[in-house]
Amino acid sequence: MYSPTIQGVLAKLIALTSERDVNALEISLAHALFELVAPGAVAIYKLEDVHSKKFALTVMEGGDVPSAQIPADLQHMLEQCVATGQRQQYVRQDGETVTLYPVSCAKNKPLAVIGVTAPEVAGFDQITGMLLQVYQNFIALINDNEQDTLTGLLNRKTFEHKVNKVVTRVQNRHQREDDALGLHYYMAIFDIDHFKLVNDRYGHLLGDEVLLLFAQQMTYSLRDHDLLFRFGGEEFVAIFECHDQQEMQMVLDRFRERVAEFEFPQVGRITVSAGYTEIMAYDVSSHIIDRADVALYYAKHHGRNRVCNYERLVAEGALENKRNEGGVELF
Ligand code: GH3
Ligand code: MG
Ligand code: MG
Repeated sequence: MYSPTIQGVLAKLIALTSERDVNALEISLAHALFELVAPGAVAIYKLEDVHSKKFALTVMEGGDVPSAQIPADLQHMLEQCVATGQRQQYVRQDGETVTLYPVSCAKNKPLAVIGVTAPEVAGFDQITGMLLQVYQNFIALINDNEQDTLTGLLNRKTFEHKVNKVVTRVQNRHQREDDALGLHYYMAIFDIDHFKLVNDRYGHLLGDEVLLLFAQQMTYSLRDHDLLFRFGGEEFVAIFECHDQQEMQMVLDRFRERVAEFEFPQVGRITVSAGYTEIMAYDVSSHIIDRADVALYYAKHHGRNRVCNYERLVAEGALENKRNEGGVELF
């Protein structure tokens, strides 16, 4: 039976559980597996999109660095691994066998597949399985900590960190293939219209149910890699990847219409207003929020149930006019 020292195991567990960031945790897991079970290689294939079953190779430790393109037969095995929740054996073209282990976070939501090029050592499989359990439990803990308890969306505590990561992506865009695809990032703030009336008429408990259903509508309408936050009471923030402002406007308007058409039990119809802005390189999260908020404020004062873009309002002189008219100060 393959048996690393107890000190070795504990040292790896300490390293693993000292991480709070999911990406850092993945790297730490690959290190731990690599040093404890001494495989030929450890690869982490992250499930990027649950619907399209798109995987991305995010961590590779040991062995040759494979191409970023996942071969069709491996893709098929990864899908099978996630669908069955069972480990699978994948035989590479060079004859090497890779054991694939599914990893899911809370509520059995599939998260990734860990590929371990196995040495011929007894007990290897058991140790790997146990280490993955620790990892899985820890991921669930991190996820719980990042989630809003009512809606299950990301909470405000995680906001700053996630926004900074997006800003860094925008800065590094020219080095990435995203740039070739012409992707931009936008932040939108949503605020339910006249929500106080809902609470006043139907009580706080039904108000909470509306918030929950609203959050569900958000999750259904928006895409998998969009980041959704509950920002405060009935305010929600989302970060989107999009080709251009027209596309962003279309996505947001579609969501706005979907909400307006949804029949909320007992409460009936509600509407939502939104303001959004593009996230720029070297942007600061408080500035981004401020710009989206100005656009939201404009939407609220121009009929509600509408989506306004900050840059467009500036280009059209709509905000300047407001100032010159001596109207409400927006800045
Ligand atoms: P407006 O169209 O201008 O946004 O009008 P509004 O009534 O929605 O005004 P505002 O956004 O300022 O009010 C937010 C209200 O949301 C205040 C409070 O009664 C309610 N609220 C905030 N947090 C919660 C919550 O967690 N649960 C419930 N049920 N209500 C909340
Ligand atoms: Mg509000
Ligand atoms: Mg409101």
